[in-house]
Amino acid sequence: MILRRVIECVRTRNWIAVALALLALSASPIARAQALAEALPADALAPAFLAECDARAAASGAYDPEIAGAVLALTNLGVFDRDAFEGVKIGFCPLRVAGGPVATTSCADDVILLDVKYADPAQRLVLNATLAHEMTHYLQHQEGKAASGDGYCASAAYAADKAWMEREADAFGDAVGELFVIGRAVEVRNDCATAVSVYVEAAAPMAGSDQAIGFLTVAPGMSAHWPERSTSRLHQFYAETAENSGEARAWRGADGGRRRFIGGQTIQLREISLPAAAPADGPFRLTLSCTPD
Ligand SMILES: [Zn+2]
Repeated sequence: MILRRVIECVRTRNWIAVALALLALSASPIARAQALAEALPADALAPAFLAECDARAAASGAYDPEIAGAVLALTNLGVFDRDAFEGVKIGFCPLRVAGGPVATTSCADDVILLDVKYADPAQRLVLNATLAHEMTHYLQHQEGKAASGDGYCASAAYAADKAWMEREADAFGDAVGELFVIGRAVEVRNDCATAVSVYVEAAAPMAGSDQAIGFLTVAPGMSAHWPERSTSRLHQFYAETAENSGEARAWRGADGGRRRFIGGQTIQLREISLPAAAPADGPFRLTLSCTPD
């Protein structure tokens, strides 16, 4: 499976191999078919077994630490809003030992069960991507129930929907796994009428990425990419309009925050949580506007 290959590469910190494996495998119909063939239906498991695992699954706010960590990682990456998890119970369950799939999401009960192997810290990336896959099913089920009522989960319509739902969840989970590996860029949008110089620091920069030193200048009305990628929306930045511009303005943090000496001056960084362009792809976006606050 694609993600299994990824986690092996990540352990060796072979980032180029990770990117190549993702690109090659995500484009391979054979790999996709093999991945699907490995998925065993949860329907094959004994109802009493599933009911026991469902009963142990925790509500939002009380998730197991590893699951809470995955939820935080996904929300920090901008994949889901925190409140998307409000109505879903999530728990670990020995699914594979019982002959089931690695994860399953109950349509009727809004419970996500993940195989116990994902509690291993070495499985963190795969856990994150698998939870993204199962959360897609949870949201699909919510949509189906909203459109067709509570009977949806027992309906022929749901049975017919399962194939495209699985394709959608697979594509989404794989894209999220890739984002965790390569990180998101930061796109700086300059909405001012003058050039701005900006400096950005990520709270979770990609390992091995070149730390940019100095300002990035963005022309008026244009966008540019900060050269460092990251896996968390949390950033600190400083920006100022170009010297000699009639529209002098600076974006700086409060006194007492983190400072940097950049481009011959001491700058005061401002904390910011950046929105993502899209849940499973695209950059974080930092928009600088010169309209009065
Ligand atoms: Zn699925």
